[in-house]
Amino acid sequence: MSLYLGIDFGTSGARCVVIDREGQVQAEGRYPFNMVTVADLPSSWHEALLALLGQISLDIRKRIKAIAINGTSATVMLCDAAGKPVDTPLLYNDGRGAGLLEQLKNIAPPNHTVLSATSSLVKLLWFSQLTTFPQARYFLHQADWLGFLLHGQLGISDYHNALKLGYDIEKLKYPDWLTKKLNLAIELPKILTPGEPVGTITEEIATRFNFPSDCLICAGTTDSIAAFLASGAKTPGEAVTSLGSTLAVKLLSRTYVEDSRYGIYSHRFPNFGQETNKQEKDLWLVGGASNTGGAVLRHFFSNAELESLSREIDPGKISELDYYPLLKAGERFPINDANLQPQLEPRPENNAEFLHGLLESIARIEARGYELLQELGADKLNWVYTAGGGAANPTWTAIRQRYLKVPVKSSVNTEAAYGSALLAMQGT
Ligand code: ADP
Repeated sequence: MSLYLGIDFGTSGARCVVIDREGQVQAEGRYPFNMVTVADLPSSWHEALLALLGQISLDIRKRIKAIAINGTSATVMLCDAAGKPVDTPLLYNDGRGAGLLEQLKNIAPPNHTVLSATSSLVKLLWFSQLTTFPQARYFLHQADWLGFLLHGQLGISDYHNALKLGYDIEKLKYPDWLTKKLNLAIELPKILTPGEPVGTITEEIATRFNFPSDCLICAGTTDSIAAFLASGAKTPGEAVTSLGSTLAVKLLSRTYVEDSRYGIYSHRFPNFGQETNKQEKDLWLVGGASNTGGAVLRHFFSNAELESLSREIDPGKISELDYYPLLKAGERFPINDANLQPQLEPRPENNAEFLHGLLESIARIEARGYELLQELGADKLNWVYTAGGGAANPTWTAIRQRYLKVPVKSSVNTEAAYGSALLAMQGT
């Protein structure tokens, strides 16, 4: 039986999932990141990767046909010609490139995705000021470097990780403004389809862990796309809402939508059916993220309270409370207003009533989000999978279904590692 391994490098730890051809989970592993010092990041990632491989039983390792890795989007690094990191990587949320945005505005087109303080491209500009920069040969994303540790090839990435670097995912090439105006002595990665095989596993890793010598290492993806893939959604109109600390929506669509006013952008969906069926059109993963979500609920209630109070709510009844649940002022999607104030008044004495108002208000924001994506041209919504802490709340699901007017289901699989395992299977 052939098996496929997906590895997820998330914000709080690394995980792995092995699946069979039917998508059944055969093994899982996890490696929490404890207090690692930033200077040690690449070695701690390397250690985590080897530890995860070691957690999989020998019997399973021997049957793994392909491996794919997802990293956090816009976590980037520089390395030398041998793949050795030449400086500390910059993490996904590191905004120290903000001061270079004015310079980048002279290079990138107006409102481009790269014009953000945390984009991969602004981080590359920031790196270029370092005294260590001349030692660097390659600019890589976290997933690219981890992939290199398994296949031994440098200078390779995928079009999900490369979006925030400025790669043109419609034309599948680096745009001229990037190649002609950037002028940095660095090799930008060659971009593959996520899941596409890069090469076979290195002899060293195969021997050390007893992987088959022809085990394929595939191009990776980002954590949020891997989590979308995990849901199994693959036809236009299917969507995934992530109800974690914040609320993020992603809708699979035949139309590409981008609107920087609302932080809406599209990722290219790796559609492997396309190679065999040329009739199939490109698919896009159109998404936006709101600042509302579970963090506001957590501010008022413990998880146990959320569960018990939710049971007291009749989801068929409409709450008259009209809130905009935020922890602080500012929203981007589906309303773009940096000064939008939290609206959490009036607060009824009864906590279940208050929670009802909160859940219903967040459900309205989610529904408005999908409406906005469709107004801007995305396919009609027909199915919503749910991931994240809020997915476990049946009362909320029923309320959301009332607003969304389409079936709402919890995803069976929500782990990004599972999505990467699917990618490894589909890509090969
Ligand atoms: P993240 O990874 O984004 O921090 P998770 O996906 O782990 O978040 O989800 C945690 C969030 O889920 C918390 O903010 C919490 O308020 C919310 N949550 C947990 N249990 C429930 C529940 N029963 N109903 C609604 N929300 C819940």
